[in-house]
Amino acid sequence: MFVFVLALFFFAGIIFFTANISINAGSWVQHSYNGHLSGSGGLEKAGKIFDRNGVVLAQTADGERYYNDDYETRLSTLHVVGDNSLNISTAVQSVYRSELTGFSYIWGLEMPETFRGGNNLTLTIDSAACKTAYEALGGMEGAVVVINYKTGEVLCSVSSKSYDPNDPPEINEDNEDEYDGVYLNKVLSSSYTPGSIFKLITTEAALENIPDIDSRTFECSGSAVIGGNEVTCMSSHGLIDIHDGLAQSCNIVFAQLAYELGRDKMTEAANKLGVNSSFDVGHTPTVKGNYNVKNADDNQLAWSGIGQYTDLTNPMQMCILMSAIANGGNRAEPYYVERMGGGDFEKQYPSEKNGEAMLESDIAQKLNDMMRYNVTSNYGDSMFGGLTVCAKTGTAEVQDGESNDAWMVGFVRDEDTPLAFAVAIEDGTFGISTAGPVAVAAVQACAEDMLANG
Ligand SMILES: [Zn+2]
Repeated sequence: MFVFVLALFFFAGIIFFTANISINAGSWVQHSYNGHLSGSGGLEKAGKIFDRNGVVLAQTADGERYYNDDYETRLSTLHVVGDNSLNISTAVQSVYRSELTGFSYIWGLEMPETFRGGNNLTLTIDSAACKTAYEALGGMEGAVVVINYKTGEVLCSVSSKSYDPNDPPEINEDNEDEYDGVYLNKVLSSSYTPGSIFKLITTEAALENIPDIDSRTFECSGSAVIGGNEVTCMSSHGLIDIHDGLAQSCNIVFAQLAYELGRDKMTEAANKLGVNSSFDVGHTPTVKGNYNVKNADDNQLAWSGIGQYTDLTNPMQMCILMSAIANGGNRAEPYYVERMGGGDFEKQYPSEKNGEAMLESDIAQKLNDMMRYNVTSNYGDSMFGGLTVCAKTGTAEVQDGESNDAWMVGFVRDEDTPLAFAVAIEDGTFGISTAGPVAVAAVQACAEDMLANG
């Protein structure tokens, strides 16, 4: 009887062990304490990473991991590709490490070279457009993203500040301020005060809830008392409607609207348009923004409608909202990995969420037209070099009152260049002068590639 019980424990142990191996082996082998994976974070056995045009962004030679030959291409693609130490947790080298290194139950990590083609990875990004966007940033810090709003492919994704993955900095106590945020892909993982780009969300709430909104007029004399305290405007706009209010970015119109719509309807619109949501971008969640007026007084509610108070938005989330406005209300589901090895990944993407409804088609169309009017009446078509662009800029006072977040968000209306974009720059001066040229450079580079290579 005693031996029988012992035998039972032995078999139970064997079953437990086998089950654990089959479930967890793939992740155990990736652990940093696995001595077989020293040096390049285990990437010395990883496959190549290509951009959408076949440009090699990362490859292994003689057991070492190297990145693209061009310095600025390396810096501009760092946050999507990753580095040897896997410092950027959202980069594809971190997220798809086991696929890239080719762990298999039969071969372990020692898969013969002949089978290794399966571990190459092709990204959706256009590295030339990333480089152009990085150069346009000219050392400014922030995030740039351009996606195809029909398919969800991310064509350009740049986060700055960056560093060279071939020569990563030694970050220590003395220089950590200089490298603050350098491991973050700000496109996915940072949120900023939105300022005037939030007026798009207030507009959506107004279009949905105020039947005569098109014929309403507002009076702007440069400031107004709303909710018991002052709200100021950059200019004295006089008698103005919501269309010119958005094009001229009049604070009084949208502060008044937010106050009038109230906490519930404003929160409903912000939630619906994804401000408080996290989106899945190829297995990586975006950071949530913030719209919370639960404890706001009436004047703070008014300020929240013009993207101040405690409002925060994430660049990728704003780009997804742009895709919905461009697409008649149906949003794109962005993704970075076009293909891995045999093509299993192609079947996963675009996901079924691509084309999911975010807002009503008639409201999307109105917002689309209003954003087009922003460009024709205010920014001017000339800045976009022949593309039919719909856009909104934002200049947000950051909480400390000392610096501005500069934004430009929008999309191209043209059938053959369906591009949605979001640019957020830290310590900018004005949305149009700081973020505008960066957005133009990134979007034009993507459009050129799209027209040339499809
Ligand atoms: Zn005004």
